[in-house]
Amino acid sequence: MVELLDLRNVSVQYETDSGTVYAVNNLNLKIGKKETLGLVGETGAGKTTTALAVMQLIQDPPGKITSGEIILEETDLMQVKEKDMFNIRGNKISMIFQDPMTSLNPIMTVGDQIKEVIELHQDLDKDELIAKTEEMLELVGIRKERINDYPHQFSGGMKQRVVIAMALSCNPELIIADEPTTALDVTIQAQVLELMKDLKDKYGTSMILITHDLGVVAEICDFVSVIYAGSVVEHASVENLYAEPLHPYTRGLFDSIPSIDEDLDQLRVIPGTTPDPSDLPSGCRFHPRCKHCMEICKHKFPEFREARPGHYVACHLYNDEGNEKHER
Ligand code: SF4
Repeated sequence: MVELLDLRNVSVQYETDSGTVYAVNNLNLKIGKKETLGLVGETGAGKTTTALAVMQLIQDPPGKITSGEIILEETDLMQVKEKDMFNIRGNKISMIFQDPMTSLNPIMTVGDQIKEVIELHQDLDKDELIAKTEEMLELVGIRKERINDYPHQFSGGMKQRVVIAMALSCNPELIIADEPTTALDVTIQAQVLELMKDLKDKYGTSMILITHDLGVVAEICDFVSVIYAGSVVEHASVENLYAEPLHPYTRGLFDSIPSIDEDLDQLRVIPGTTPDPSDLPSGCRFHPRCKHCMEICKHKFPEFREARPGHYVACHLYNDEGNEKHER
C-alpha cells in the first residue's frame, strides 16, 4: 500500500462549561492511495471530529488537538501554517458534508459556488473558468445549462451532486465524505453512492467515508475502521471484517442489522448507550456494554493488535498470538 494519510495517536478535546470532552482519544488510522476507507461508528463516536482534525478545522477554543501527528504524504499537517493549510484544503483534501443545504449558499447560483472553489486554487481566465464549471456540472450528471440556477431549484440528491462537483473541482488526492447520503432518500442515496464510486475510480481519488451504515460500507469501501468512544477498536479489509467481525462492539453492530428472513418482535440492539465523552469509562471504553467483559477490561485499556493477518482489534479477548482467550 502506498500511504497517503496516517493519523498517529491523535487526541482532540473540547473545553466546555461542564468539563473537558474527550472526543477523540489516541486514534490511529491509515489510508493508502486510491483506497476507500469506511469510518464506522454510532453518533458521538468521534467520526466527524476526526475528519475536522484532518482538515485542521477544529475550532480553538473550545476545541484543541492535544496530541498526535496527522501525516499527509510526507507532511505533518499539525505543523503546517494556516496559509499553507488553505492550499491543502481543496487542492489535496476536500470534504463533503452530510447535509448539502449547509454546504451551499442559498443566495449564490450553483455555478458561482463551483467557480469560487476553482478560482481560489487554480489560475484560469474567465472563459476557462466557465468551461471548467460546466464540465464539473456535467461530470456529476447535471446539465450545464443549469449553471445559473440557485440551490433551491434543485432536489436534495441534485444539491449533493453540486457539493460533490465542488469537492472534486480541484482534483484532490483525498475526499472525506461525512455521511454524504444520510439526508437523502434511499433511491437517491444509491445513485449518489454510485456516482461517488465512479468518480473516485475515474480520478484515482482516495476517500474516507464516514457512516454508521454498514450496508453503504459494503457497497463502496476497501477497508473499514470501527470507531468507539473516540478510538479505533477494529480495522480490516471489508472482506475480512464482514466474514469475521472480532470486536464485540462490531459484532453488536452487525447483529443490529435486521434480516428479512427473521420474524422478530423487537430489533436487536447493543445494550446501553455510547459513553458520555466527558466521563469515559475506565479500561476498555466498551466494558459497561460488553457481554464478554472480564475483570481486566474494567481497568486496562486494550492494546490495538493484529489478531489475524491484516485484521487489527483492541480487545482483551485476543492474546499476543492472535487467538481468542475465551469462547464468544
Ligand atoms: Fe469486551 Fe473486554 Fe473486549 Fe472490551 S476488552 S470489548 S470489555 S471483552
